[in-house]
Amino acid sequence: MAEDYLSKMVQKRMYIQLARIKKALVVGVSARHIHLCREDMEILFGKDYELTKIYDLLQPGEFAARETVTIIGPKMKSINNVRILGPLRPTTQVELAMSDAVPLGIKPPVSKSGNLKGSSAAVLVGPKGVLNLGEGCIRANRHIHIDPETAQVLRLSNDELISVRACGIKSTILGDVQVRVKEDWIPTIHLDTDDANAADLKQGDIVWIEC
Ligand SMILES: [Zn+2]
Repeated sequence: MAEDYLSKMVQKRMYIQLARIKKALVVGVSARHIHLCREDMEILFGKDYELTKIYDLLQPGEFAARETVTIIGPKMKSINNVRILGPLRPTTQVELAMSDAVPLGIKPPVSKSGNLKGSSAAVLVGPKGVLNLGEGCIRANRHIHIDPETAQVLRLSNDELISVRACGIKSTILGDVQVRVKEDWIPTIHLDTDDANAADLKQGDIVWIEC
C-alpha cells in the first residue's frame, strides 16, 4: 500500500513536470463508459447497492467499477459490458465514441461533460432493471485536466480551448481541446477512442501543447 502511494506520488510529480517544463501532456484514452446517479444505479443494480471498485483511475477519487451494463439503441442493436465509472454523480451520463454510436443507431452530440442539452436517448440494461434514458448519451469533447498551479505556469485558464500536437506516425493537430482546471487534478488529456485511433495515440503517450 505504501509502495502504491509512493509510485502514485512519483507519477503525479512526473506528469506535472512534463506539463510545466515540456508543455507535454500524457494521454488518457477514454473507452465508452457510463457515470450513474444513485437513483439510476439503484434501478439497474438494486436498492441500496454500492459500486465495487476494481482500480483507481488517475484523477483523485475516480475509479473503474466492477459493474457493467448493456446499452440498447433505437435499432435494437446493443453493446454489452459497458463499464461504470465511479463515484456516483448528480446526473447519469453515457460517453461513447462515434464508432460506438453508429451501430447503436444514435448520433450523440460532442459535449462538455455535464452538458446534456440535445444529448441522445438510449436504454440501459442492468442485472436488476432497465433504465429508459430519454437523454444522456454524449461524445465527450477533447479536454485536459490540470491543476491550478500548472495551468498558471502554462498561462491556461479554465474552459479555454487549445490545440495539441500528436507527433507519431499519424501526426495530427487536435483542436478545440477544453482546458478544465481543478485543485489536485493531474495534468492529462482525455481523448475518446476514435480521436486516439485517428492520431495513433494510446494510453500513456504524449502530446504537445501548441504555442
Ligand atoms: Zn476527463
